Amino acid sequence: MSKIIVAGAGHGGVVAAIKLAENGHDVTIFEKSKEGAIGLPQSDVAEKSAFDYAEISLPEEYETVRNVITFVPQDKALEPLTIPAMEAESILVDRKVLINHLLKLATDKGAKVVYEAEIISPIILGNRVCGIRTADADYYCDLVIDACGAFSPVRSNLPEYMCVNREIQKYDIINTYRGYFNKIPGVPDPETTYNIYLRDNGSVGFSWLVTEKKQVDVLICRFREIEETEILSILQTMHEENPHMGRDLIKCGKYAKIPVCQPLSILVAEGYAAIGDCAFMTVPLKGSGIAYSIKAGRILADCIEADSNGYYNAKNLWEYEKRFFKEIGFPACRMAILKNLLHYMTVEQVNDLFGQNIVTSEEIAKVMNDKLDALLNTKGFATVKDKVRLVRDNPLLKEILTNVAMWMGRFAVIEAGFPSKYDEDDIKKWSSKYNEFFDSIRAE
Ligand SMILES: Cc1cc2nc3c(=O)[nH]c(=O)nc-3n(C[C@H](O)[C@H](O)[C@H](O)COP(=O)(O)OP(=O)(O)OC[C@H]3O[C@@H](n4cnc5c(N)ncnc54)[C@H](O)[C@@H]3O)c2cc1C
Repeated sequence: MSKIIVAGAGHGGVVAAIKLAENGHDVTIFEKSKEGAIGLPQSDVAEKSAFDYAEISLPEEYETVRNVITFVPQDKALEPLTIPAMEAESILVDRKVLINHLLKLATDKGAKVVYEAEIISPIILGNRVCGIRTADADYYCDLVIDACGAFSPVRSNLPEYMCVNREIQKYDIINTYRGYFNKIPGVPDPETTYNIYLRDNGSVGFSWLVTEKKQVDVLICRFREIEETEILSILQTMHEENPHMGRDLIKCGKYAKIPVCQPLSILVAEGYAAIGDCAFMTVPLKGSGIAYSIKAGRILADCIEADSNGYYNAKNLWEYEKRFFKEIGFPACRMAILKNLLHYMTVEQVNDLFGQNIVTSEEIAKVMNDKLDALLNTKGFATVKDKVRLVRDNPLLKEILTNVAMWMGRFAVIEAGFPSKYDEDDIKKWSSKYNEFFDSIRAE
C-alpha cells in the first residue's frame, strides 16, 4: 500500500483516487474549496463513453444530449452552417453534481478528502517530489498526482530540471464569461438552438448562445482578458438578435480561464504526475476537458498499479505518458495545430471558408466529433492539399492552408520521434522539439 496525495479535486485526479483507493492505497485529496462548494454553477457536456472507459458510474442526475451545432458567420449575407449531430452520445451534467458524485465514489472506496486546504507548493527532496506544502502544514507521500488545474502551484513550483512546467503562452488560454439568462414567455425559440457566433477576427475569440428548455446559456470566449464593458456590449447585441432571451441573469455570471493548447510535453517526474487542466488536457478547439481528464485518470491508475514495487519514478510513470499521448494527446495536438489557424485568419477569410464551401459541414462535424485523425488519415495530406487547390484564386488563404499542410507534416515527424523507452536525455530532447514546434507556429 502506498501513500498517494491528489493535489486539487480536479476530475482526472479524483477518478485516479477512486481506482487507487479501490486497490487499497492510502489516498488523500487536498482541495482548497469548502465541502460542497467545488466547481462553477454551470452545466457541462461530457462524452458518455469516458465513464465506460474509466469503468465508473454516471451521476444520478444528467440529461443525454446530441448537440446540433450551427456556426453563425459575421457576414449576414452568408447562410449559417449547421453541422450534423454529434456522433458520440454526451451527457449534460451540473458541474457540482458531477464532482460531488466522483468525490463520493472516491470516499466510498476509502479515499480521504481534506477541504479548505490551500496548496502552496510541492515538497522536493533531492530530485524527487515527496509531498505538498499547504498554508497549514507539510504532507509527505510516495506520489503526488497534480490535479490543481491550469495554474497549479505544484506544477509551477517544480524545479526547472524536471522540465514539466511550461509557462502559459499567448493563445494557450481562453478567457470566458458564462451566464444563464431567462427566456421571455410566449416568444418562440430560434430555429437553431446551439449557435456559435464567429463574430470577430479569429485571434479575438467567439461566443455561443444555447437555447435550453428553461434558460439561455451564453458563453463568451476571448484569447485576451475581457473587460466587463465588452461583455455588456456583446450581451446587448445578443439580446437584440435573440428576442427569446431575457435580461435576467439566473445563474453563473462568472469569469474563468480554459486551456486550449497542446498537452504538456512532459507529464511526469520522480514521485509526480500531472493530470487534467494542470497538464492542458483539453480538446483545443472546444476547451472541453472532462472526458480527457476522466480517461487520463484511468490510464494513470493503471500505470500506478503496474508499478508493483511502488517506485513511482519518472521511468515507470512514463508508461502513463506514453499511453496518454497515443490514445489522446497526439490527436489533441493535431487539433491544437488546427486551432492555431484561427489566429492567422481574418473574418473575411473565415467567411470565404464557409461561403465558398472550402470547408464542408461534414468535415467540421468530424473535427468537432474528435475525428480529425480520420479525416487526415483516410487520404493523408490529400485532404489539406485538395483544400489548397480550392483556394487557388485566394493567395492569402492559399498561404494559410499551405502552412497547415506543412505544420501537419512537421508534427508527424515529431510524433514519430516520441521516445517509446524511458531515457531522460532522449525525453528532454524530444520535449524541446515539441515545444519549439508549437512556439514556431504561434501567430504574433
Ligand atoms: C466556462 C467553462 C466551461 C466549460 N465547459 C466544459 C464542458 O462543457 N465540457 C467539458 O468537458 N469541459 C468544459 N470546461 C473545461 C473543464 O472545466 C476542465 O477541462 C475540466 O474540469 C478538467 O479540469 P480539472 O478538473 O483538471 O481542473 P479544474 O476543474 O480546474 O479543477 C482543479 C481543482 O483544484 C482545486 N485547486 C486549485 N488550486 C488549488 C490549490 N492551490 N490548493 C488546493 N486546491 C486547488 C480547484 O479548486 C479545483 O477543484 C469548461 C471550462 C470553463 C471554465
